[in-house]
Amino acid sequence: MSNPKIIDGKAFAENIRNKIAAQVASVQKAHGFTPGLAVVLVGEDPASKVYVRNKGEQTKASGMASFEYKLDATTSQETLLKLIDQLNKDAKVNGILVQLPLPKQIDAQAVINAIDPDKDVDGFHVVNAGRLATGGQGLVPCTPYGCLLLLKDRLGDLTGKHAVVIGRSNIVGKPMAQLLLNESCTVTIAHSKTKDLPGEVRRADIVVAAVGRPEMVKGDWLKEGAVVIDVGINRVEKDGKFRLVGDVDFQSCVARAGAITPVPGGVGPMTIAMLLHSTLVAACRQHGVELPK
Ligand code: NAD
Repeated sequence: MSNPKIIDGKAFAENIRNKIAAQVASVQKAHGFTPGLAVVLVGEDPASKVYVRNKGEQTKASGMASFEYKLDATTSQETLLKLIDQLNKDAKVNGILVQLPLPKQIDAQAVINAIDPDKDVDGFHVVNAGRLATGGQGLVPCTPYGCLLLLKDRLGDLTGKHAVVIGRSNIVGKPMAQLLLNESCTVTIAHSKTKDLPGEVRRADIVVAAVGRPEMVKGDWLKEGAVVIDVGINRVEKDGKFRLVGDVDFQSCVARAGAITPVPGGVGPMTIAMLLHSTLVAACRQHGVELPK
């Protein structure tokens, strides 16, 4: 029998994708439009190519329109900004995602801030970060949004829980902390300059690790029963073989945790599911219609 402590992000994400496909069919029938997502890839980064391909495939599988733009690694910022402007004006495109990282000659934040905030399905635009911080209606970064759904599914109401988020990036750590704060958690954000990380983690009911360091969080750092969400994706080599591991040492943590996400199969599949959700939400808002139940 599988361990009930292990959070099955793959199955959870599949349920969300099925629900989205039904909602897409419902808006097509009731309102006559098909939500569309444009994904822009600049360059040849192998991981980015895989992510973009998966995003395109899952967008189409949900019944939405997928528009893919593959630009050369030498593309100038000006050319990319022109494409963004064109996509902002295109009514068939409801969501725009520029795959990160971008080549050195391009200022990623300038490109993100050129996206219409209402089409910024990654939720990285400064306006969407501001809306998240001030309780406005915006678009939320997909990975932390997916983590939040997994947590609420396990724990229900998060009010008063002590959450420790390890990592303070704009795309995971900070929005994760903000989302948990919005759920009335007491939130600690730990980062590379935190003095006593094990001590901080030991006080947590919820631990979210988004660091990019293989198997950093150890089982003896955890409070008994803590729920652990591992965002990390690290490719490590042992005896000539590559495998993916998270930021959490799964073997030692699974024993003490109340619940834990595996890598792979935990947070990863949730990211694309939430991207599809945000695209549908953006499309419904742009057409002035309710999101189908
Ligand atoms: P980042 O490099 O932008 O940020 C890492 C953060 O970790 C920084 O804020 C830094 O202060 C902190 N940090 C570094 N060393 C630390 C230490 N020793 N102790 C405590 N904190 C430390 O990374 P990111 O973009 O936030 O991504 C984090 C991880 O999540 C990566 O492994 C990335 O691949 C993964 N990721 C996964 C998904 C997904 O879909 N599952 C999405 C985005 C990122």
